[in-house]
Amino acid sequence: MSHLQAIIGNREIYSKDGLFVSLSPSDTRDAVNTFSNSTKDICREACESAKKAFPAWAKTPAPVRASVIQNFAGLIERNKLALAQLVTREMGKPIREALGDVQEAIDTCYFFISEGRRLYGQTIPSEMPQKELFTYRRPAGVFACITAGNFPVAVPSWYFVPALLCGNTCVWKPSEDTPETSFAFQRLLKAAGIPSGVFNVVFGEGQTTGASLVELVDEGLIDKVGFTGSTEVGRRIGEICGRNLQTPCLELGGKNPLVVAPDADIDAAVHGALWAAFGTAGQRCTSLGNLIIHESVKETFLSKFMAGLSQIKIGDPRSEDIFYGPMISRKFLDAHLSNLTNLIKPHHRLLTTQNGRIVQNDSWANFSGDSSNGLYAFPTVADNVQKSDEIFRTETFGPLINVLSFNHIDDAIELSNATGYGLSSSIYTKNMNWAYQFRTEIKAGMTSINNSTTGAEAHLPFGGNGKSGNGSRQSGIWVLDQFTRWQAVNVDLSGKLQLAQMETGYITPSETILPNQF
Ligand code: NAD
Repeated sequence: MSHLQAIIGNREIYSKDGLFVSLSPSDTRDAVNTFSNSTKDICREACESAKKAFPAWAKTPAPVRASVIQNFAGLIERNKLALAQLVTREMGKPIREALGDVQEAIDTCYFFISEGRRLYGQTIPSEMPQKELFTYRRPAGVFACITAGNFPVAVPSWYFVPALLCGNTCVWKPSEDTPETSFAFQRLLKAAGIPSGVFNVVFGEGQTTGASLVELVDEGLIDKVGFTGSTEVGRRIGEICGRNLQTPCLELGGKNPLVVAPDADIDAAVHGALWAAFGTAGQRCTSLGNLIIHESVKETFLSKFMAGLSQIKIGDPRSEDIFYGPMISRKFLDAHLSNLTNLIKPHHRLLTTQNGRIVQNDSWANFSGDSSNGLYAFPTVADNVQKSDEIFRTETFGPLINVLSFNHIDDAIELSNATGYGLSSSIYTKNMNWAYQFRTEIKAGMTSINNSTTGAEAHLPFGGNGKSGNGSRQSGIWVLDQFTRWQAVNVDLSGKLQLAQMETGYITPSETILPNQF
């Protein structure tokens, strides 16, 4: 039996080889669909298809390209519930969050539809007479993109909506954790009217299809790479792009700090920290890693935090009131269990009492569903973590957080910056000076004052520094610089060769007019 392997030029390609199965991580564990790994030849064919489609798409007027994005937005809106249900079924985030994931794609479309009528360049005065200077945004070319599975609709939309709007053609290797959701994304884009060859998909796993696709940068088939995933893989992709003199868009991991100041609104901070720590079972790049609490409020905060944690509902993500559901796939559950074994040390104080590390039906008071098949992990809170501990600087990507304490704001900021990551960060305080110092001295790309570490809006830049990325930003107008290259144009109407600098008619003063004072 053949399985979907790729979509090239709007044509579905099926193969009998290299199968992988997308399994629901929740109670049912049903096989969502079976796909086939794309080979390097298939990846090459997809890039060639994108290359062939590029000139016509680049020449299509931007407002016309935007009309496809407008159609896409309408189709996502009309299919919002079904798409969100597929996200929940395939990767296990609660339906409320899945609806948010889809809404972010709709918001992104609406932001960029109007950008199709802007994509502004500039007119610039020349230093020579009868000469005009202009700048234009030109598309980069073939855009190859590899994404993670934790935001299977929002993150691809952050890439492809602006990339397509700017006139690029695309090849996408979606996560092997969410191929069916990605297929749905492609079907909606095709129905929106995307021309053949402009948007191509190669399904497959990372070390096979993903690695093959990136190698094609060396063959000159790819002009721009976008990657959302782990720091380890991002570093490798950065090396390949670097030797080809390309700057990829790298959106990587995080170890995000949340600071609780002595004057914080403790209830608000508890809510923000619980959501940051355990929303999506801790599987967001912006999830809370290090909870840094002022000594004077640590006991009060932790007692409310643990009381709040004991109330959260874990379980079947199809229910409306679930706080978090299963891990995305077996790989993520295994990695979480291995982190508990390897990173928790004798000097750490575990604040959660567990009857086992995987949730059983009767081992969590507020469990809802049937855990016998689902990949449900317990929340874990490790106190007494030190800056020198490996767990302090390791992204754990699961329902596991560290607790540290501080006395002086300088120490809280020092701890916040000490992991090497720099994605998101947060402080809860009413002290304007502390809030000012935190947001000016933190190295993270994103900072919240009195809000959780997680969350994004389609018109605000999203991205990180250090081990979290190479400074590229997604969303809003800032992402246009990822998908276009500035072209400088000068038009000389003088009818002769004019040499700037050498023949510029600068006006020089005739004499010194002020007398010496000493
Ligand atoms: P991952 O790096 O293992 O995989 C991400 C993608 O890369 C997948 O599509 C995978 O198939 C592919 N891939 C894996 N190995 C590859 C290789 N050698 N060559 C090319 N492609 C390869 O990451 P993951 O564990 O699936 O996802 C979780 C990570 O993603 C976390 O570190 C998380 O913080 C990060 N993330 C970052 C953001 C952000 O915007 N900064 C958003 C979501 C997730």
